[in-house]
Formats: sequence, C-alpha cells, structure tokens
Amino acid sequence: MRRPMVAGNWKMNGTRASVAELIESLRVQALPVSVEIAVFPSCLHVAQVLGGVDDKHVAVGAQDCAAQNGFGALTGEVSAEQFAEVGCEWVLVGHSERRLVLGETDEVVSRKFLAAQVGGLKPVLCLGETLEEREAGRTLEVVGRQLAQVLDDHGIAAFESAVIAYEPVWAIGSGLTATPEQAQEVHAAIREQLSRQDRQVAEGVRLLYGGSVKADNAAELFSMADIDGGLVGGASLKANEFGAICRAAGN
Ligand code: PEP
Repeated sequence: MRRPMVAGNWKMNGTRASVAELIESLRVQALPVSVEIAVFPSCLHVAQVLGGVDDKHVAVGAQDCAAQNGFGALTGEVSAEQFAEVGCEWVLVGHSERRLVLGETDEVVSRKFLAAQVGGLKPVLCLGETLEEREAGRTLEVVGRQLAQVLDDHGIAAFESAVIAYEPVWAIGSGLTATPEQAQEVHAAIREQLSRQDRQVAEGVRLLYGGSVKADNAAELFSMADIDGGLVGGASLKANEFGAICRAAGN
C-alpha cells in the first residue's frame, strides 16, 4: 500500500512576510496524518519554513540542487548536503521549468538525481511532455526517455527512495488539467517501465500528478489507480486550497 503524498512547489514566490503568513495559515489546517506532505519554498526561505512548520508533519524540500556533491568552488549553487544539513528531506529534480527555461538536459537531471541521494535527500523526479509533443502523439516516448536516462544511469534500486511526478508541461500553471484518464495512462506506463526492471520496487514507487491541481479536481485525479498524490504549484500558495488537496489525498 503506497502512502499518498502531496508536495507544494512554491517556485520563485514569497517574501519573508508572505512566507510567515503562509506558514501560519498552514499550521491551522487540518492535515491528514495518512498523507505525506512536503513544501518546497525558495532556497532563501527554506530555513524560515523549517523553523515554522516543525511541530506539524510537513517536511521541507529544495526546488533544485547542484549536480555536484559536497562543498567547494561552485558559485551560486547549493549542494544536496547543504540542504540536508539544515533539515531538508526532499528535492525536486528536473522540473520542466528547469529543463525548458534553464536548459537542463536529461543527463544533468540524472546527475542531480544521484547527487540528491548521495547528499542525503530524497528526489522527486519530474517528467512531462510539451503540448507539441502530446499533439504529435509522443507523450509516452518523451516521458519514457526522461525516465530511462535515470533508470539506466542509476538502476531500479535508486527508485526505492525516490518519488516520480508526472507533470505535463501544457498543464502547468495554465489552468488546463490533464483528465484523470490522460494522467492515469502515463502513470501506468511509468510504472510498467519500472516494473520491467523490478516489479516490487515499481509497485512501491509513488507517482504524483502535477499540472493545475486544485481542491476541486484533486479527488478525481487521486482516485485513479496509479496516481498516488500530487505536486501542486499555484494552489500550494493558498493554505486553504493546499489543505483541501491534502485532505482529498487522504480520502
Ligand atoms: C508545478 O509547477 O509543479 C505545478 C504543478 O504548477 P501548477 O500546479 O501551478 O500547475
């Protein structure tokens, strides 16, 4: 039985004041203990959030980490070890905004996935196709290729402590959500690809859906057999909405 998970990606949002308000509003939410919950603030606000949510069962993650491990001369980067040392548990790897806007290749994403695990973080590996790729009928090929890079480089055992998020690029921040059936088709294909390497590991990996998840569509998405929760962007900045999504995952 896979424990559902809801992750909130706060992206490049927030000031100290607005983050303090969001933490306060999260603290008064009724959050189901059956659901693993994590938030991913900007790296500037990680310490503030860790200090603010520590008596709630909300874990904190980073939105990215360096592909290099440890400490040293790499201006502007933050290593998995540094995030882990301050108390982060998770890190997003390969979010489409990093792949498409910042030019991260499958190979870089794969290196970051390994760096995360070596440095003591659990990666949430993000996969997803663009609208053009979907319209060309290439969704499963693209997502399969993105997953294969990590699977081939690090093996199936690396997925025992990782989560995968399927996030169609056309659904992110657009208000266009994949239908539960569209999302389920891709999730099933991801699990099948993992299963070809090791059935037991594949059955245990949590597959989150991301792309305009909201309180009013979460329950329907989470009811699908291979959707184990959500990676939530915009709606995670509103505590009430995020709380309702977490409760939907717990039902
Ligand atoms: C995301 O960026 O990970 C995301 C899912 O965003 P949104 O929920 O705003 O579509």
